[in-house]
Amino acid sequence: MYHMTDIYDRIDGYREPVIELQRNLTAKVALGPLNGGTGEHEKMDLISHLLRDLEPDMIQEIRAPDDRAQDGYRPNLVAKWQGAEQGSAVWVLAHADIVPPGNLSLWQSDPYRIKVDGDRIIGRGVEDNQHGFVSAYLALKAIKDSGASLKRSVGLIVVADEETGSRYGLCHILKHHGDLFRPEDLIIVPDAGNEDGTMIEIAEKSMLWLKFTVKGRQCHASTPQKGKNSLVGAAQLILALAALKEKFASSNPLFSPPVSTFEPTKFLANVSNINTIPGKEVFFADCRILPEHDLNEIIETAGNIVSKVAAETGLEIEMETDHRHDAPSPTMADAPVVAALQTAVRTVTGREAKPMGIGGGTVAAFFREKGLPAAVWSTCPDTAHQPNEYCLISQVITDTKVFATIYQGDLSG
Ligand SMILES: [Zn+2]
Repeated sequence: MYHMTDIYDRIDGYREPVIELQRNLTAKVALGPLNGGTGEHEKMDLISHLLRDLEPDMIQEIRAPDDRAQDGYRPNLVAKWQGAEQGSAVWVLAHADIVPPGNLSLWQSDPYRIKVDGDRIIGRGVEDNQHGFVSAYLALKAIKDSGASLKRSVGLIVVADEETGSRYGLCHILKHHGDLFRPEDLIIVPDAGNEDGTMIEIAEKSMLWLKFTVKGRQCHASTPQKGKNSLVGAAQLILALAALKEKFASSNPLFSPPVSTFEPTKFLANVSNINTIPGKEVFFADCRILPEHDLNEIIETAGNIVSKVAAETGLEIEMETDHRHDAPSPTMADAPVVAALQTAVRTVTGREAKPMGIGGGTVAAFFREKGLPAAVWSTCPDTAHQPNEYCLISQVITDTKVFATIYQGDLSG
């Protein structure tokens, strides 16, 4: 018989293994072709060795063909450990790829050589997404090393291409190996979170980027009657588009803000001088729509507003969809994965974690699109993509305990 406290004690001593893993992972630069790299091969080799050290019952490399990458493919890894009990498996997905460091002058140290400063480990990728991998991995290691038998079946998935669209990562796996996952499994994506680990992301808003082109007639500013001022038209249109907020005003407490948002953002430069009446404007709006709304309905309503303003002003106005992502159905707030995370967080930290929605765009959406309830969770300072990205060793250790608790959790609950 084992006690969870033995496993927790073991994990409390994991400062050095956390640093060591972070050091080695950070040194293997994993940039996708769109980020100026050749892929995740070297880092995946290291991860493959790490996974094999824990003697998985199954380990599989899944290669997604990609001509731009080294050897013509992008590597993905899936490993699974059989649990002692029947029932739903736990899957934890982390991504191997990173984003480039950006302007190096903003870094206080080499992004690919970690710097340890007290509780802090600084380096590109240490949070996004090595924190997730390291904690899910060390949780398994702690259980194995303690001699306890693993209760649930646990799968670790390490994917390529998360930062540049997931086509060669999770999308490829779901398309060709979707039968690995069952809807009753607990799928956790530790790729976003908050400082105290109380945010469980289960839903996201749809994203809709609209482009508006307003065409008038350019002329000298002293004779406005000879032209049609496109800037005035664009201003009118921006104000008129506020009607979208009123029409699609429903509220959903999972989200902050709890409503759909329709924000005019980028505005292209028009004339370069003050004494010319502009004849053409181009601007964009970034709309984040609650998942209960149909984007087609939003587009239709925006189109009607455009027609109305065009008729009123005598300007020609075009609207195009620059980009759209329709949010999949959310993971339910009472899904087993949410309950398992809440119980484990409560056990380890005493805090109450809450299911929430975000403005858009996590890799978990691809699971949800396939009807697989997935939750995004971690305890992190949220420094992803920043210069001097860091993670806190204490938070990695907390998350390791949370994962160990879930792996050994009560399968009936
Ligand atoms: Zn990430």
